[in-house]
Amino acid sequence: MADETDVEFQRGLLTRKMEAGQDVVMETNQAAVLRNVDVPKAKYHFVVLPKEDIVNVTALSRKHLPLLDHMLELAVQTIEQQTQSQLSNFLIGFKMDAFMNRLNMHVISKDFCADTMSRNQHWNTFNTELFITFQTVHALINFKGFIEPMSPERAESLRKAFPVQCNQCSFKTGNFPKFKDHLEYHRQRKEKYQTNLSESMAKMNLNGSCMKKGPKCGPRPQGFRPHSQLGSTEANQAHPNPYRKFSNNQKKSNPQTNKSNGDNSKNISPN
Ligand SMILES: [Zn+2]
Repeated sequence: MADETDVEFQRGLLTRKMEAGQDVVMETNQAAVLRNVDVPKAKYHFVVLPKEDIVNVTALSRKHLPLLDHMLELAVQTIEQQTQSQLSNFLIGFKMDAFMNRLNMHVISKDFCADTMSRNQHWNTFNTELFITFQTVHALINFKGFIEPMSPERAESLRKAFPVQCNQCSFKTGNFPKFKDHLEYHRQRKEKYQTNLSESMAKMNLNGSCMKKGPKCGPRPQGFRPHSQLGSTEANQAHPNPYRKFSNNQKKSNPQTNKSNGDNSKNISPN
C-alpha cells in the first residue's frame, strides 16, 4: 500500500488524477487538461498531460511534434473556454526541473497571484531559465531534435535565486511578502484597466467600431467593416491567433469538454 508521504507516490499524482478523471477539464485520446487545484501558482493554472508516458521535456524528439501541436491546441481551447482572460495573458511551457514523473505542460496566467505562490523557489521555476516556453521547445525539437538537460547545480542555483524581479516591470526585492503585494498591485491595476477598456469598447461598438482587441485595432482604415459584419474566416485573418502557426491538426482534434460546472466525469472523444 502506497504511503501518501512517499515521494514517488506524490510524483505520480497527476497521472493518477488523469486516470481517475479528477480535475479534468478537457480530454482527448492523446492528452488531458487538468485544473491545478492543489497548488495553483496563479489565478488560472492548468496542466496538459499527454497519454503517452513521456518522462520529461528532455525525452521529447521530432516524432512528438504532432503531439505538442495537439497539446497546444488543448491549451488554447482551455483558455478560451475556462477563463475570462486572453491568450496573451498566459505563459505556456514546461519546467526544466519538473518534479512529476510524467511530462506536463503548464498553462498559467502571468499574474502569479495565488496563496501557494509563497517562496522565491515557486517564482523562479516559472520566471527563470527553469521554465522553457512552448515556442522554444517546439523550435528546438524542430531544428535540433532534442532539448538538452540542465545540470542539477545550474537548476539549484536558479531555483534559489534571490532577490526576485517582477515579470511586468523592473521592480526587484529580497522580501517575498512585499513582492506578493507588488504582484497584487499589478493584478488590480490590470483588472481596473480591463474594466475601463470593456466599457469604452462597449461605447465604441455603439458607433460601429471594432470590438475585438488586437495589434491591428488602430484607427479604422478606409473600407473598414466591424467584426459583426465579417465572416469568421475574415475575422480570424484580421486577428490571428499567435499560436495558430504551431497547430497543424486543429481540425482533426475534437476534444470533449466539461465546462466549469463541477462535472469532472471523463469524456473521451471517439477518434
Ligand atoms: Zn512590477
